Order: sequence, then C-alpha cells, then structure tokens
Amino acid sequence: MEKKQITVEVSARHVHLSREVVEQLFGTGYELQPEKWLSQPGQFLAKERVNIIGEKGRLEKVAILGPIRDKTQVELALSDCFKLGVEGVVRNSGELDGTPGVRLETEKGEVVLAEGVIVPRRHIHILPQDAADLGVYDSELVSVKVENEIGRGIIFSGVLVRVSEQSSMVMHIDTDEGNAAMIFKTGTGWIV
Ligand SMILES: [Zn+2]
Repeated sequence: MEKKQITVEVSARHVHLSREVVEQLFGTGYELQPEKWLSQPGQFLAKERVNIIGEKGRLEKVAILGPIRDKTQVELALSDCFKLGVEGVVRNSGELDGTPGVRLETEKGEVVLAEGVIVPRRHIHILPQDAADLGVYDSELVSVKVENEIGRGIIFSGVLVRVSEQSSMVMHIDTDEGNAAMIFKTGTGWIV
C-alpha cells in the first residue's frame, strides 16, 4: 500500500438542522445565513448559534452548519455528552435510529429532539481515484497513524472510509480525539 499523507481536521461540536427545526428555533420561513463557506462544496457555517440543553448541563452558542438537511443531527464529542448528561453513541453520520435526544434553544424558540445526538465516527473523505491509489474502499474501516513533534503520536483505529466526489482527502476527528493527539486544528497522518 502506498504511503500518502492525509490532512487531519478537527471538527468541533455542531448541529445540522431540518427545515422544521429551523422554523421552530428561528421563526416561520427563516433561512440560515452563511457566515463562512467550508471545505466541502456547498457547506457553510451559519451566522446563527443554538444552545443545547441536557439533564446535567448546557452548551452555549453551538455552531450550526448549513444547508438544511432532512434530519436534525447534533454532533458532539464524548466530553460534551458527559457535560450534558446525554449518552455518547458513536454513529456514522445520518444513522440516527435509537440515538439520544436533547433540547435545542434560541432566543426565539425551542425544540425537544427525540433523537439525533451522535458522537460521529472518525472518518476519511476520499475521492474515488485516491481510494484506488491507496487500495481502500467505501465503508472500510482503516487505521490512521498521526505523529507530531510533541510526542503525542497516536494510531486511530476504526476510521471509516467515505468515498465520494464531494471532497479531496481529509480525515475528520472530534475535539476529544484531537486533544488526545494534540492536534488543535489540522495535522497529518497516514493509513497504516
Ligand atoms: Zn467529515
């Protein structure tokens, strides 16, 4: 297998909202306003923020990523789940059946979600050609080694490969995983 560097990006906690939930939180007919465009085509950080409330605590001014989706999905690190008092369930994006719920709140409204809170499975976005070069396939679980000068190198196992035309090669980890490897925004790794 060819050794090829992968950019590792840390994704902080955020939510994706459905049309229905946007309207419950911000008003009928409301549209999220893009503040910053992200590396995935068409994806943006919205100007709006939302508070997340669990049985034990709350997270203030959490980022909302647009555009709207079919299902509302709250993506948290495990330490966020501890703070809220919500069970941390590792899932692939979009696989929300049986996941915990939480309350979302803004100055204009609130909504109680029955489900949708996940600790997203760490994953690599990869183009078909790069996947072929590396000998990996969609939905495969691989291990990625990250090294740094601070001496906090780590091997992440169970990294989901997501092959699509949507993104050049980038690995996404959450803030707890980033902290464990002392990667605060971006780092580099390779499949081992
Ligand atoms: Zn991702």
